[in-house]
Amino acid sequence: MLGIRPLLRRAQSLARTFTSSSPKPYTVPEGASGKNWAARLELAAAYRALDILGLNEGVCNHLSVLAPTADGKGEGMLVLPSGMHWSEVTASNLVSVKCKDGQCILQEGDIMPETTASSIHLGVRQIRPDATVIMHTHQPYATSLACMKRPEILMVHQNSLRFYKRTAYDNNYSGIALAFEEGQRLGTVLGDNDVMFMGNHGVLAVASTISVAFDLLYFLERASQIQVLTEAMKKEVQLIPEENCQAMSDDFWNTMQLYADAHFYAMYRRLRKTQPDFET
Ligand SMILES: [Zn+2]
Repeated sequence: MLGIRPLLRRAQSLARTFTSSSPKPYTVPEGASGKNWAARLELAAAYRALDILGLNEGVCNHLSVLAPTADGKGEGMLVLPSGMHWSEVTASNLVSVKCKDGQCILQEGDIMPETTASSIHLGVRQIRPDATVIMHTHQPYATSLACMKRPEILMVHQNSLRFYKRTAYDNNYSGIALAFEEGQRLGTVLGDNDVMFMGNHGVLAVASTISVAFDLLYFLERASQIQVLTEAMKKEVQLIPEENCQAMSDDFWNTMQLYADAHFYAMYRRLRKTQPDFET
């Protein structure tokens, strides 16, 4: 029998938006082409913002969003093409792909994404079709926790609370993810959670909007950083009392979209000043 959250998620996947109703720093035309362009603008901003924050690694790691194709004939997964640095991503150079007969097919653009991008992101979505936005990085502090034998995000700080009972841990690293089956396995481990620590590898966040996925990765890194620094002192840690964690976590989630939008669109405006080509 399905619980409440899977039922909500199924409903969300039927009414996919990838963005919220908050005022936007950009305008787009009505229709599929406008929605496609809005998704491209926001995803390009997420790549550039996370690059500024140093959460990416080389030309690896991937952020993706499901959005209508510009021709209005279907839906595709927008992601960066293989070999591109996050600092080079623009709204127009993102590519759209979909999974057909077990193969990754290009729908928009000329260059395929990395195999690991298609295998992880398309594979996870075969288990979690509601995962409109998926962001996967090797961000250093969170990844250092993922490399522990028994990784656990501890309730050491208020930044930790938004991950309370919303986090999965995978301890079965099996090499570079080159097949949909590995993405499906990761999706199964992720289950009903919002964030996953991928053992010996990195982290992954899913959300229904780009701003919330961005915000989750940002605060996952901050929470992990505080935890690593706190535990490095080798002194007794003052944890937030267990009996208070659920209500405190709920407080964050009740306003999550609002504050995630404020954070993400502030970064969007910063990018517009410092590297405006991302909107081209
Ligand atoms: Zn990775």
